[in-house]
Amino acid sequence: MIIEYHRPEKLKDALRLLARPAPHTLPLGGGSLLNQAASLAGADPIAVVDLQALGLNALEVQQNTLAAGATVTLQNLLDQPDLPEALYKAVRHEATHNLRQVATLGGTVAAAGGRSPLAVVLLALDVTLEIHSLADGKQRVKLGDWLPRRGDLPAGVLITALHIPLNARLAYEYISRSPADLPIVCAAAAQWPGGRARLALGGFGAAPALVLDGSEPSGAAEAARSAYSLAEDVWASAEYRAEMAAVLARRCLQD
Ligand SMILES: Cc1cc2nc3c(=O)[nH]c(=O)nc-3n(C[C@H](O)[C@H](O)[C@H](O)COP(=O)(O)OP(=O)(O)OC[C@H]3O[C@@H](n4cnc5c(N)ncnc54)[C@H](O)[C@@H]3O)c2cc1C
Repeated sequence: MIIEYHRPEKLKDALRLLARPAPHTLPLGGGSLLNQAASLAGADPIAVVDLQALGLNALEVQQNTLAAGATVTLQNLLDQPDLPEALYKAVRHEATHNLRQVATLGGTVAAAGGRSPLAVVLLALDVTLEIHSLADGKQRVKLGDWLPRRGDLPAGVLITALHIPLNARLAYEYISRSPADLPIVCAAAAQWPGGRARLALGGFGAAPALVLDGSEPSGAAEAARSAYSLAEDVWASAEYRAEMAAVLARRCLQD
């Protein structure tokens, strides 16, 4: 149950509210997940800090980077001109038209599980997050470092922006039960003009996995197979996932 609602206009006020030891206070992006979770029977009482008046909704191309505020919606991102095709595909795969009008980039990254298409692509792109907290001020952190740590972060850490590289070639491939379903296996590959390549896998587990980051992508299919060799759950066997991960990795790199 939501017991308090705040809509601050200044970042400092938002951070002060989020740093309170009680009541348990969480950022509210689009609310698509948080509202649902808070209204479940037996859910703990929470206070929410609505981010919509903080002005974190700018989208700006800065040289080779797209700087996107945390409250940019998935639809705003999709409407950005010249968005790389694979990123466009992943955003459409992430959420339906209605959900895209509401869900924010910050909320999607904060809540992303392993089956999030957008998180897989952003991980391949080595996206940088801008985060703020009352204790540590402004910091920049790579998405790949942040994803595994997010559950252990002290309360009150707010994602304020994402910096998305635009100078990499990008591919996203997936397998799902139906085209609109979330993936049971997916892969995203990014390659920069200097030759650096990154491959990320998704469709399984608590977060997407980075499989390769280097100048030699030739072992990517093997690395993908090995990374998903134990990736078993109710949706697919590990054997199937490992085989398909290798196929998708190869396809991404061919693209
Ligand atoms: C009908 C429906 C279908 C859905 N389907 C899917 C699905 O298929 N796949 C899927 O992954 N999700 C799904 N979701 C969940 C949800 O839509 C996504 O995770 C969504 O992208 C969350 O974005 P939001 O802005 O609405 O986040 P919110 O609901 O506002 O917040 C989600 C979490 O992130 C935190 N948060 C929000 N913004 C920030 C920030 N800037 N910094 C730090 N933490 C923050 C919140 O405190 C909360 O814990 C679905 C939800 C609905 C209602």
